[in-house]
Amino acid sequence: MADSDTETQDDYYSVLGISSAASVKDIKRAFRVIVKDHHPDISMDEEATDFQIFLNDVYETLMDPEKRAEYDAISGFQLGGTNPFRDVHAERDQVFVDEFSCIGCRNCNNVCPRTFEMEDEYGRARVVDQGLDTGEQIALLI
Ligand code: SF4
Repeated sequence: MADSDTETQDDYYSVLGISSAASVKDIKRAFRVIVKDHHPDISMDEEATDFQIFLNDVYETLMDPEKRAEYDAISGFQLGGTNPFRDVHAERDQVFVDEFSCIGCRNCNNVCPRTFEMEDEYGRARVVDQGLDTGEQIALLI
């Protein structure tokens, strides 16, 4: 689980320095400014390419209304929404995939094939059922 500093860094809106209510114009402007400073051709930072790839993902997500709505719902930016990854009030007896962090390694699908499947579009894991694989199998993924 990420610490609070990492959560702030990973928040797409914070990365661009904008609020969750930012307009398309605001997103474009913020993206251009940050790309200018961090572009791998300009930056001396060895991790500039990785950061640029991440920035492109941020931009693509926030510029697509459907993807942005999905991101907002998961990240808890929707009014009245609850971020399921950070809500500690509910009993944690169900498994889920944080699709924004999933790198598609297939480990969960290999260890618990009745719980996880890989989706085709982005190659990420999805939970398809609860309680079919044993607690011991699930524990291997934690
Ligand atoms: S959710 Fe599954 S496929 Fe995705 S990174 Fe974790 S183990 Fe790998």
